Amino acid sequence: MRLVFFGAPGVGKGTQAQRLAVQERIPQVSTGEILRESVKQGTPLGLQAKGYMESGKLVPDDVVIGLAREKLTSQECSRGYILDGFPRTVAQAEALDRMFQETGSPGLDHVVSLDVPNAEIILRLSGRRSCPTCQTVYHIAHDPPKREGHCDKCGGALVQRADDKPETVEARLKVFDQQTKPLVEYYQKRGLLRRVDSTGDINDVYRRLRKILGLAGA
Ligand code: AMP
Repeated sequence: MRLVFFGAPGVGKGTQAQRLAVQERIPQVSTGEILRESVKQGTPLGLQAKGYMESGKLVPDDVVIGLAREKLTSQECSRGYILDGFPRTVAQAEALDRMFQETGSPGLDHVVSLDVPNAEIILRLSGRRSCPTCQTVYHIAHDPPKREGHCDKCGGALVQRADDKPETVEARLKVFDQQTKPLVEYYQKRGLLRRVDSTGDINDVYRRLRKILGLAGA
């Protein structure tokens, strides 16, 4: 199964992708996560990406395309994957299609668009906290950890992502509207787009997601 999870920041792509990836035993490939890790480690990729990420802008296409290509052609992804946060521009989607042609891959099975109104997105992002050690995501009101400020899974101290600060959220939503939304039409034309209402409870969204993908246990 080769899937793309698509949607504005804060719609729950990472949360739902992580859950489905574990249950279906395929890797979740999050370009945002790879980039954040590179920034943390201070690698050349991280140094290149840091400024863009902190201001809520997209990292240049050639950088992200190279990174996605390396990951998707690795052994780890040979049985399929969930792309979380890639592609984010038409140029990235075209590069992905070229990669499928070059490698003789049948291409994507579904592009899942997780839909949430902007007002709810802002509320979700302001309360989002994540564990820098195991990447588990929480929400201070809707999905709090058992012990305040600490990860249920590994006990790590939870942090707010630098780009979840209100001033950056606005910039990220604008970038989504201008640069990423055109992908809806791109994938609709190819008959790949599946829309999932992603408002409400995380478990309900997950059930709707499985049903739309035709997976058992929905
Ligand atoms: P995310 O965790 O998916 O919200 O990504 C966090 C940040 O990483 C974004 O705001 C961008 O700065 C950068 N980023 C992640 N994925 C991409 C991508 N496909 N293209 C460009 N920039 C990206």
